[in-house]
Formats: sequence, C-alpha cells, structure tokens
Amino acid sequence: MWSMAIEKQRSEASRPAATQRDGIAATRHFVRGSKSRRASRRVPLAACTLEALRDAVAKAGFPAYRAAQVMEWFYGKHVYRFDRMKNISAPVAAYLDEHFVAFSSRLVTAQDAGDGAVKMEIALRDAFVVEAVLIKVPRRSTLCVSTQVGCPLACAFCATGQSGFERNLKAYEMVEQALHAAALMPRRRISNVVFMGMGEPCLNLDAVLEAVSVTNAAYAFRVGARRITISTLGDPHCIEKIARFPLEVGLAISLHSADEKLRRQLVPGAPASLDKTIEAAWRYFRETGREVTYEYVLLAGVNDSFADAAALAGLLRGKRAFVNLIPYNEVEGLAFKRPTPGKTAGFCKRLITLGVKAHVRTSLGGGAHASCGQLRLSKSAGSAS
Ligand code: SAH
Repeated sequence: MWSMAIEKQRSEASRPAATQRDGIAATRHFVRGSKSRRASRRVPLAACTLEALRDAVAKAGFPAYRAAQVMEWFYGKHVYRFDRMKNISAPVAAYLDEHFVAFSSRLVTAQDAGDGAVKMEIALRDAFVVEAVLIKVPRRSTLCVSTQVGCPLACAFCATGQSGFERNLKAYEMVEQALHAAALMPRRRISNVVFMGMGEPCLNLDAVLEAVSVTNAAYAFRVGARRITISTLGDPHCIEKIARFPLEVGLAISLHSADEKLRRQLVPGAPASLDKTIEAAWRYFRETGREVTYEYVLLAGVNDSFADAAALAGLLRGKRAFVNLIPYNEVEGLAFKRPTPGKTAGFCKRLITLGVKAHVRTSLGGGAHASCGQLRLSKSAGSAS
C-alpha cells in the first residue's frame, strides 16, 4: 500500500539493518540478534561528546585530534565502522572498537508514507521499540524525536498515551534516532528537530537537553538552536529550565482547550492549571524574547466551536503566542474525530480575527500511521545490539 521510496544506500556494511513490514500499529517486532557481553560494555558513541572522546583517545596514548576525525566520519559521512574510517590508523580503530559501539539501537523498519514522511521503528538495547518520524519537504528535513518509551501522561486522544509508560530514553538513544534518520538520507541533512514523538520531554528534561546539545553541536548535527523545538504539556518549572538553557531552543505548549475542566479531561496528566501554564510561558517570552507556540489538536464536536476559539483567543491575546492547529489524526479504538477542513479553517480564521496568530498544520505521515499521536509502544522479541 505504501510506496517504499526511502533513499537506500547500502554501501556501508555496518549500517544498522532496516527491514520493512506492513501493518505497523500495535504489532510486535521480532528482532534477531543477541547482545554480546562486549557489546553491552562498550559505550555508544552518541553518548560521547567530542571533548569526552578526545580525553579518552588521549588517555589511551593516541593524538587527541583523532576524536574530531572520528566524529566527522560518524556524523558527517555516515561511516559507522572504525576500521572504515580512512584516516584512522589500525591501532586507533582497534582501541575504539574495543571501547565504543556505533549504535546501541537498531533501525528495524522505515516506512515511507508516500508524502515525504518516513516512520522509523527503532529497537533499543532492552528490546523496546520507539518511533521517530522524518518529514522531508523541499528544503527542509524535520525529525520528530521520541523522548520516552511510551508516555505516562495518558492524553485521552493520543495513541501513545493508551499504551502506558516503560522508561525514559537516554540522551544517546535520542541522538541515535537522528543518526538512523541521517543514514536514511545521505544526500540531505536534518534541518529541524522537534521533540514531539512519544513521551513527555519535561519528564526527562536533562536527557532531552543533552540530546539538544548534540543535535546543535558543530561536531555532530549542526541543527540551529532555533530550529529545535521542545513540545510539552507545560510544567512551569520545566519551562523555566528551558528558558535558562544556554541554547535558544523553541518551546511548544500543548494546550488543546482554553477551558480548565475540558483540558483536564483531555490531558489528565497536565502538571499545572491553564493560568499557571500560560503565566510560565509569558515569563519565558519575557526572559528569552522567543515567541511560544501553542499546539491545539482540533477534535470534532469537542473543542472546535467558535466559542472554543473565542475562549482560546481570550486566553492568549497579547501574549505573543502562535497557535498551531492540528486537525486530529484519528486513532483506532478511540472515538475522537477530525473536524472537516471547513470547520478547521473557520476555527483558524476566527482566532486570527480575534487577534491571535494561528495556522493549520498539515499533517504528513497519515499513510504510515506516523503522524503525531499515532505512535504506539511495542516491544521486540529480541535484543537490539
Ligand atoms: N508530550 C508532549 C509531546 C508529544 S505529543 C506534548 O504533549 O506536547 C506531540 C503533540 O501531538 C502534542 O500536542 C499532542 O497533544 C499531539 N497529539 C497527540 N495525539 C494526537 C493525534 N492523534 N492527532 C493529532 N495530534 C496529536
């Protein structure tokens, strides 16, 4: 059903294997491969900053500048075997191979939705599978990164929310999502990263910020800080931490209703009241000068009336807000429906008339169940490294 137009370059024998399957939702994966003792002892390279690798290489008696060369092969040239890094001598390669491993995770499927979105399923060391979505449009390749295995927030309309929570992801497991995505498109680079996949970034903030640093780092992905966005239900303490973080990342707050009672029903895991959340976002703007994006999933007959738009405008007017309206991606087994395009456009127009900047997000990836909120949790039978 889907076209499989992923840019495949299989020149690197060491690349993580990608297989493709149909029927993603709620399936289990059977990933072959056993985790050798040595593999589990080795440090994933993505867990290592350039500085740390430099120290390690120097401590082992090799020139420290080898570290930068390794990072260039790894992040820049998609070469994941130390003995294939042409300017790295055999003893250095042997040392690296002994202590480091290119990937702790494995790409098990990459499904092209046929509209520029590619949904990746990535098996972790402990065999859990997380998903990341690559969205390619002309001049932009955006990666949607998962931050947790599952999600504890249980938003009423979200597929991930139905499947429960397992654990936080390590920073390197988030970085590896970007590495797998980069390996799928050797001729393009990741231009934008949104922490909007499975999970709540604010419940794993330290690791998320570490992954943000690597995403931005000159030795790694070089994605400009303003092209990196963290999406959250909006814990005020977390918003404050993001404001103080030295990199100028974008903040997106998932609102979904301007009515406290309805919001509680839709996002029962919301860590603070609407007022406290908006107040924290306003402080964030005043401290950083960066406009806040508000995400609002449009659910037919639930939060999509003109009165809902007016309430939202009342809440956000004058707050330097930008509203991202997301027509609901329907989830099997859930009763919520997507409003008609006319209703959606009307809601958007209403907000704009009432003085709030807004636009309707075109959701790619529906064909591969790769859109926001369609990511489910599953577990592979085997181990991944
Ligand atoms: N936990 C974070 C990030 C993950 S979800 C957050 O809540 O922001 C990213 C966005 O997708 C959120 O705004 C979320 O509410 C929205 N979303 C979840 N399920 C969806 C669905 N089925 N259709 C459209 N958007 C959805």
